[in-house]
Amino acid sequence: MNHANRARAWAVGFALAFFVSAAVAPGPLAPTDAGAATKKKSSRKAPAKPVTPVAQSMRSYAGPDATRLVLDLSASANYRLVTDSAASRFDVVIDRAVSSPALEMPAVGEGVVRAVTIGEDATGLRLRVELDEWVAPRIFGLEGETGTAPRIVIDIDRPGQAERDAAERDRIAKVLSTGRRIIVVDPGHGGEAAGAVGPKRTYEKTVALAIARMVEEELEKNAGISVVLTRTADYDVPLRDRYRVAERYQADAFVSIHMNSARGRNGSGSEVYFLSLASASDEASKNLADLENAADKISAGPAERADDDLVGILFDLKQTEVIQQSSLLAESVLTQIEDGRNLPSRGVKQAPFAVLKSPVVPSILVECAFINNPAEERLLRDPQFQRDMARMIARGVTGYLEKAPPVVRGRTSVN
Ligand SMILES: [Zn+2]
Repeated sequence: MNHANRARAWAVGFALAFFVSAAVAPGPLAPTDAGAATKKKSSRKAPAKPVTPVAQSMRSYAGPDATRLVLDLSASANYRLVTDSAASRFDVVIDRAVSSPALEMPAVGEGVVRAVTIGEDATGLRLRVELDEWVAPRIFGLEGETGTAPRIVIDIDRPGQAERDAAERDRIAKVLSTGRRIIVVDPGHGGEAAGAVGPKRTYEKTVALAIARMVEEELEKNAGISVVLTRTADYDVPLRDRYRVAERYQADAFVSIHMNSARGRNGSGSEVYFLSLASASDEASKNLADLENAADKISAGPAERADDDLVGILFDLKQTEVIQQSSLLAESVLTQIEDGRNLPSRGVKQAPFAVLKSPVVPSILVECAFINNPAEERLLRDPQFQRDMARMIARGVTGYLEKAPPVVRGRTSVN
């Protein structure tokens, strides 16, 4: 690891430690106790009137491993968890909060959650979550991203993780035994991490999943290729878990599907990224990588974002070879997109995307088009455009595979 990497890893570690200590324990989302200020004697200003936090909306995402509940508040609030394991339920008590008349409880048909209800009294709100069987929930607060409210996020694991892990090991062994090339396709974002949003409220996460499924179909027309998706519905997946799927399957390549968005509404075209460990090819690429990486503040939560340093160490070992292959894969996919002539090409670029950090699997990130450009948003909603884009990406991947050396897979199963 060079000095720059070490300094960067230290800085990231420090920032994470700060973030975790600030956010891992249930508690205030931000200092809201205006009463403390009134104790200062010489204060000439009248104390700020406390803002009453209003619970505005709530969502539920049932993933394969956990169900996530998210509550939006109009302002930061103090909250605490009260569990009753014998009754298989817990309450989130939110001080001084009230609920909006428009607040609806989310449908929770899947997963371990049986019912969610909300009650209000003079002291605040009580969100009650009833479970099919007791699982200790994980809870954390998020300050609002731009344009969103402070959020309380509750994760409830599905029981049976050991069985699911065993089933995945069986699936991996089965796929590996076919001797096919393995491509992991990663639909960007998902769940609470919606990604960029178009002027007509088209979500990046939705289009990314649609195109990824089509890439899967197009690639699997080739009998020599098996595809694995990192998510198959609308739920959060931390960035690290996405490339780890590719590593567990000892994949030939990892392809992450995203939609771009620019400050103005005139951004246009497609671009393909591979990893840069140092810096981005230009300022816009750096901003884009920062934006895409920020999804993990939501998806992973505060407790699971800490091994950038390890990635850096591992990367020194195979970095040159894997990045070289990633650049070939990026060129191959972009060439197909250029031949398709649907949209202008913005070229192959490099940026430090967290999702591309596998030290062993060649990885690219495709920004298909600009979802915040009204004309391109219209295209991205069109199944024919999605299909064309998927076909070009699939052609680029197969073109790459024809030249790339096959992955030498170990006989022992990976964890
Ligand atoms: Zn994205």
